[in-house]
Amino acid sequence: MKKLFLFIILAGMGILSVAQQEDTNYLHVVEKKGFKQKAAFIPSAIHNNYDLIYHRVYWKLDPSIKAISGSVASHFKTLSDDFSSVHFDLSVALTVDSVWYKNETTSFTHTSDILTINLPDPLSQNTIDSVTVFYHGVPPESGFGSFEASTHGGVPVLWTLSEPYGAKEWWPCKQTLTDKIDSIDIYVETPLQYRAASNGKLVSETVNGDLKTAYWKHRHAITTYLVAVAVTNYESYADYAQVSETQTVEILNYVYPESKSSAEIATKYTVGVMELFSSLFIPYPFADEKYGHAQFGWGGGMEHQTMSFMGGFSSSLITHELAHQWFGDYVTCASWQDIWVNEGFAVFCEALVQEHLNPNYFLQWKKDRIQLVLSQARSGSVFVEDTTNVDRIFSYPLTYQKGGLILHQLRHQIGDEAFFSGIKNLLTDAETADGFASATQIKSFFENAADTNLSSYFNNWYYGQGYPIYTINWLQETDGAVSVSIKQTTTHSSVTFFPMQVPILFKGANQDSLMVFHNLENSQSYSFNLDFEVSEIVFDPEYTLIAPHPAQIILNISEDVLNESIIIAPNPTNERLYIKSKGVKIKLVNLIDNSGRQVFTQLYPDNPSRIHLDMTNIPFGFYYVRVETDKGVVVKTMVRNP
Ligand SMILES: [Zn+2]
Repeated sequence: MKKLFLFIILAGMGILSVAQQEDTNYLHVVEKKGFKQKAAFIPSAIHNNYDLIYHRVYWKLDPSIKAISGSVASHFKTLSDDFSSVHFDLSVALTVDSVWYKNETTSFTHTSDILTINLPDPLSQNTIDSVTVFYHGVPPESGFGSFEASTHGGVPVLWTLSEPYGAKEWWPCKQTLTDKIDSIDIYVETPLQYRAASNGKLVSETVNGDLKTAYWKHRHAITTYLVAVAVTNYESYADYAQVSETQTVEILNYVYPESKSSAEIATKYTVGVMELFSSLFIPYPFADEKYGHAQFGWGGGMEHQTMSFMGGFSSSLITHELAHQWFGDYVTCASWQDIWVNEGFAVFCEALVQEHLNPNYFLQWKKDRIQLVLSQARSGSVFVEDTTNVDRIFSYPLTYQKGGLILHQLRHQIGDEAFFSGIKNLLTDAETADGFASATQIKSFFENAADTNLSSYFNNWYYGQGYPIYTINWLQETDGAVSVSIKQTTTHSSVTFFPMQVPILFKGANQDSLMVFHNLENSQSYSFNLDFEVSEIVFDPEYTLIAPHPAQIILNISEDVLNESIIIAPNPTNERLYIKSKGVKIKLVNLIDNSGRQVFTQLYPDNPSRIHLDMTNIPFGFYYVRVETDKGVVVKTMVRNP
């Protein structure tokens, strides 16, 4: 609530960007806290011998009491012969009352958060069967837990947030990133004054005495951690988005009554963003059911499939959670090492929204994000090496910001056509659509679309660490010939050189020319002609590259101009010699006699534009005056007379 209030005030004052920045940062904190307490959980392989097909769940929830009771029916297909027991993840803090199999109770054990259900007769491979678990209890207590009861305006509210390992704290499930639930029916019974928000389509709300049962039906594959429910005295309203010529999607908002008037204004933003993503990627993947927001007690958001839970309704939070419906929900990271598939893509989607819906702010958005990565991601990879390190998994600079920017950058490296076609393939391929994707698979989609090998790009930017720092040397001769040399150093030893396409804008009085250099080796030089006089060059004017802007730019000068830039007088001389510079900085002066012997040398760290040398101690004769400048070395001849 505080976030939402702050956002509206700031937007009214015309400093929208501050609120957006803060909101996005806060979002990350919430997502990380959601993870933190369950870091010790190691996904079990014990239930890899069956394919979870379907759940039908009945939950009894009263938001004034932090507790759950109900039943979960699970339909599964066996993947091996001699299948004699079914395993689910379930916290031992919950009590299993009974397990039913073929209309009879069956035996079970429940230890170490694993529920093992014994089948009376072993099943053969590819058998479809089902079990039903009746259970109740108080989900384990934790500060930002997976099952929370709180209040808003004195009214109880209860919500779940399972990502990534919290589902087992409140329901018996297969907690994994390898098997999606193919479909689910969710029945939630609450006291009459409340409403339950959940995944999929609301089929009915049935009143029975002083109880109400909401039935939510979801007929898409869903990852376990995205199954969620929230209960309070919600009021609802809908917006509608046109996601294709023939499809309109209901955007169903469940909000606190006291927030409704402000939410009704703020959530309208969802319509344009959904239509934008639908046109850039594929139409909203759950269009046959709905999208929705359910307000809950945090300042951030969680992308529960078809029903994001929202602490507020800022445009950046709406964008981020909606983006996850494509990246995170419809296509889910195949492991927590590849959390970039969720979070990097969601941040990249924020860039697309800035570009299309907020173009005046887009350049600043890119500058801010690049600056954040430069200052906070000099080392560390987007790929998560160590999934036991929670701060690392949900690292704001690496997973979110650098993760988003390497997509923005890749788009400019391979071009829009290949980039967006790679994304469409990711979202439509039978392997990944409605399933899971690893970074390796995503790399292949981009490679196929761009018809190029992206190993170096992913090795350097996804698995490697740091970024390049560029120095550009350039020179234009009087006949228009231009030479450019592009040099880079890197901030981390894991990458010694980033091969990149480097855009440089050449600016003249009446004409500009943007050129893209295929920079494949360090200090690579390029020569070409420009038929206008270049007054300055600008490195990467559109901020496509993760590198400091501006780069260090060094303007070289031609030999003739360099020679004329140093004047010595008088010549011949007897007592004093003056050296004057024009447009260059003097760094060092040598006097070398006719036999090659150095008779005088002096460094000039202050780069004076005028130097006078006392010649009284210099023998008579012929000398070379060698002047080192910031643009090169100039050698002149001089005679010392008596
Ligand atoms: Zn996110």
